[in-house]
Amino acid sequence: MQLKIYNSLTAEKEIFKPILEGNVGMYVCGPTVYSNVHLGNVRTFLSFDFIYRTLMHLGYKVRYVRNITDAGHLTDDGNVDNDRFVKQTRLEKLEPMEIVQKYTVDFHKVLDMFNLLPPNIEPTATGHIVEQIELTQKLIERGFAYESNGSVYFDVLEYNKRGLNYGELSKRNIEELFANTRDLDGQGEKKNPQDFALWKKASPAHIMRWNSPWGEGFPGWHLECTAMSTKYLGETFDIHGGGMDLKFPHHECEIAQGKACNDAAPVNYWMHANMLTMNSQRMSKSTGNYILPMQLVTGDNDFFEKPFHPSIVRFCFLQAHYRSVLDISNDAMIASEKGFIRLMEAVKVLNSMTADDTKQSGFNLQEWKNKAYDALTDDFNSPILIAHLFEAVKYIFALNDGKETISTADLEDLKTTLNAFIFDVLGLQTVEENNNEKLDQTLKVLIELRNQARKSKNFELSDQIRDKLLAEGIELKDGRDGTSYVLN
Ligand code: AMP
Ligand code: ZN
Repeated sequence: MQLKIYNSLTAEKEIFKPILEGNVGMYVCGPTVYSNVHLGNVRTFLSFDFIYRTLMHLGYKVRYVRNITDAGHLTDDGNVDNDRFVKQTRLEKLEPMEIVQKYTVDFHKVLDMFNLLPPNIEPTATGHIVEQIELTQKLIERGFAYESNGSVYFDVLEYNKRGLNYGELSKRNIEELFANTRDLDGQGEKKNPQDFALWKKASPAHIMRWNSPWGEGFPGWHLECTAMSTKYLGETFDIHGGGMDLKFPHHECEIAQGKACNDAAPVNYWMHANMLTMNSQRMSKSTGNYILPMQLVTGDNDFFEKPFHPSIVRFCFLQAHYRSVLDISNDAMIASEKGFIRLMEAVKVLNSMTADDTKQSGFNLQEWKNKAYDALTDDFNSPILIAHLFEAVKYIFALNDGKETISTADLEDLKTTLNAFIFDVLGLQTVEENNNEKLDQTLKVLIELRNQARKSKNFELSDQIRDKLLAEGIELKDGRDGTSYVLN
């Protein structure tokens, strides 16, 4: 069985050859923890969780590193005043590290809800300032970077002059890049507008700042990933992942930094996950077309007619290949729910089944397993894998109806294989039947009791009901149409 991975760098599916046989080093760009992650962010992390699970299932020993971006960095328009942390600190009147803590906790809570496995190492940008300063110094010493007015920039033209190719990942041509760049920040400081910051001088308003050989400042965003990936995985490692939108400039810059520092390509396989859209429009905070994961799970939103269990959301995401755009809509979620319930019913039926020793199987199990593993090893093709799982589902229901037969050995094999695919590889979890409905009914009873207490002016009791529910993470909201609840 050969694993094939689509490598964004070569734009080809390649046979995966790890640097150290049986081992995989994988780095995935983590979140910028200045606000809640939206469902689009979750899709990317979930895609890599599936990839991580698959690698382990195939027998690899994986070191999975996913960072937390907690140092202020420039936004895409390069304007330091738009630093996301600075803005959010002002907005929420919190210390920068309070913002970081608040949204890191939220991030973990959300990923846990969708049953993502934690990475082996989760380094933070602020915890690796020393490494980033050292890398910047090395790049200056090697002639790939220059200081200007307390900031340090990577010299893109110099990089290309030495026969290297800035633009190799995003397939951009440097001349085009120079012609199309509009530079807002660092105007006049850079030799060329395409040069990117390795270290940025802190303006008086900038709160997150560190001492450096170039004065007080903060590191550039691209540098943190080079510092942390090479520290934990080596100067060249196997897999680097992230969302499609990070290809340029972020990953392009990582390649340039790695090659300029170590004379070697930092990554053998670049993997990019495609975007989540909602009602055919890309999910993004800036356009307002986004939903928080919790809102989908509680039903507290204007896009979906009912709440969906996290495992159903996970199943829906995995029904699309990680390199395809996935559009979620009410209809798509309802369809996923149906499929999910059928799959879970089948595995339950299968697990309680016993075989008759005298019977032969009417199903070629080995052939089915081969097809399933072919899908899994063909660039992690989860939708094809799921399609094969449903062939088994059909067979299981036919067995249950007495219309098919299975041998004892095959039954055990099918049980082991199907359970592994569903729970270990796809990472699905069973949903307690009617759990949501039961909770809903119980809360309606409590809301009714609270209303009665208020009517009879027993405010002590009505407040007690509200406060006790709140302590359990259930918030009652009194509106014109009565009282509703939100699960926090
Ligand atoms: P950020 O916190 O903005 O750095 O984003 C974290 C991750 O989410 C990155 O890998 C992005 O590529 C990814 N991402 C952002 N928007 C979407 C989306 N609509 N669909 C899928 N992934 C996304
Ligand atoms: Zn990164």
